[in-house]
Amino acid sequence: MLDLPEYWRSLPRESEARSKHAPPEAYMAQWLLPVGAGVLAAVLLGSGVVAAGIALLVCAAGLGTWMLRQTSAAEEAKAVWERSLICLRCPVTFPREDAVAV
Ligand SMILES: [Zn+2]
Repeated sequence: MLDLPEYWRSLPRESEARSKHAPPEAYMAQWLLPVGAGVLAAVLLGSGVVAAGIALLVCAAGLGTWMLRQTSAAEEAKAVWERSLICLRCPVTFPREDAVAV
């Protein structure tokens, strides 16, 4: 039983297992998008274009919420990977807290 991140870092770069057990990728949120939409919505609302302004504001809020959720999901996946163990005989990986059940 090995620590997954440690095992992964010890693998040669060209190893097949290296890509198989690679850490989950970070989610790069494009915060400029919802922020820009929010600013544009404020400009529209300020100049009396209420319906379009509100529609854009709802979009900005929805997009921002979705990005926030993607970000925390990616962070959680990475955290699980960080505390995972690997059994080289099976070979299976699992979060450390599940190790007692195996
Ligand atoms: Zn095993």
